[in-house]
Amino acid sequence: MTAPPTAADAAPPAAPEDAAASPAGTPAAAPAGEAASLADTLTAPSVSRAYECQCGRPVYLRNSQCLACGTALGYVIERLGVVPLTPGAEPGTWAVHDDPQGPAWRRCANFETAAGCNWMVPLPAGQGGTGDHAADLAEGFCLACSTTRTIPDLSIAGNDEHWRKLESAKRRLLSQLLALGLPVHTRFTDPVHGMSFDFLSSLPGQPHVMTGHQNGVITLNAEEAEDAVRERIRAEMREPYRTLLGHFRHEIGHYYWDLLVANTAWHEDFRTLFGDETQDYAAALRAHYDHGPPPDWALRYVTSYASTHPWEDWAETWAHYLHMADTVDTALSFGVNAANVELSSDLFELKDLWQPEHAGAQAFLDFLNGWVRLTNVLNELSRSMGQPDYYPFVLPHAAVGKLQFIHQLVAAQREAQAAPPAPGAADDQAPPAQGPAAMAPAAASPGAPA
Ligand SMILES: [Zn+2]
Ligand SMILES: [Zn+2]
Ligand SMILES: [Zn+2]
Repeated sequence: MTAPPTAADAAPPAAPEDAAASPAGTPAAAPAGEAASLADTLTAPSVSRAYECQCGRPVYLRNSQCLACGTALGYVIERLGVVPLTPGAEPGTWAVHDDPQGPAWRRCANFETAAGCNWMVPLPAGQGGTGDHAADLAEGFCLACSTTRTIPDLSIAGNDEHWRKLESAKRRLLSQLLALGLPVHTRFTDPVHGMSFDFLSSLPGQPHVMTGHQNGVITLNAEEAEDAVRERIRAEMREPYRTLLGHFRHEIGHYYWDLLVANTAWHEDFRTLFGDETQDYAAALRAHYDHGPPPDWALRYVTSYASTHPWEDWAETWAHYLHMADTVDTALSFGVNAANVELSSDLFELKDLWQPEHAGAQAFLDFLNGWVRLTNVLNELSRSMGQPDYYPFVLPHAAVGKLQFIHQLVAAQREAQAAPPAPGAADDQAPPAQGPAAMAPAAASPGAPA
């Protein structure tokens, strides 16, 4: 059987640019006598970004149907990727194609809405294999959509498109967080630390919506989904890079600082590397907007905004780490080879790291230098098309230690998640789910600090 032809993929299942992509697969080692491929020298920290239909065609994170053979596709958390599906025993249910007798799934309730969600929901809840995520779900919704608390007012023209772009960027974010082994829990299981998102628009006579994070709630100004608006703000702020995905990765950095750094064994090292976060945040922001960054910011920070306050340095560096990890994962997944491209910048050495003696230091250094090589190539490709640089940053040596700190924190989370839970550990003590998510239209709110 093939999937019904009504699959409502928000993005076209295979856009023209997808046609030229390399086939999926793990890159083979370079034959003797040839230069090692870029993929050989990269050490990606997480997971494949190349997915494959049952017909063998490459498919992508946003796809809900294979254009080549019509097979239904969906994102399954346990597989950490998009997989081909086969119809299940009951109408409207699905199983993973290579496991037809396995767990049953349903489409997310946002499959047919403007959100165009292609994530799968376990059926019945708790038996679909999402393990400790079953209780995180709003009824009928996938994990990604269950983190959304407020959507834009869809009665306003254009907001459906904004919402689609916001959810699409958020799904990319969450798929990476899951692959990295970071905790992703909603307010249904953790009312205090659960992750939730408000997508708000400024309304006439109301305070301007500020993108920011506060107590687990991430607010995004939905107007940032409008390309012309975001580009105007980027130019006004003199930023080299401004994207929805970048906003998500920055704000989730604040979220994980609260969850994984504050008052933990990592806190002291955080202060050594990033500075004392107890300094007045509001005053620091005012000083940044009044006087600009310090003249030598480029020697110490990944971006000028990172120089504002240790919290912003953390969030900017964290976002950088996620950019690096996803791009390197994607390059590795497709066997990208750029071995013959000259480097225009030097590589980093062990002595540049925060903890050069750490057991994982060499692997991190390989990842970092792989990234430097890769971005040299990607920037040159962008210039070939007259586009702005793919990666319009220069990583200062001082930022490398901070990135290693983040890498080790993420690796520790991943290892803890892979280990069997300690007796009496937290998950079984989580409060019960509390009914469906409030997918309410937005009202403007003052928002939280950025
Ligand atoms: Zn196919
Ligand atoms: Zn969904
Ligand atoms: Zn921030």
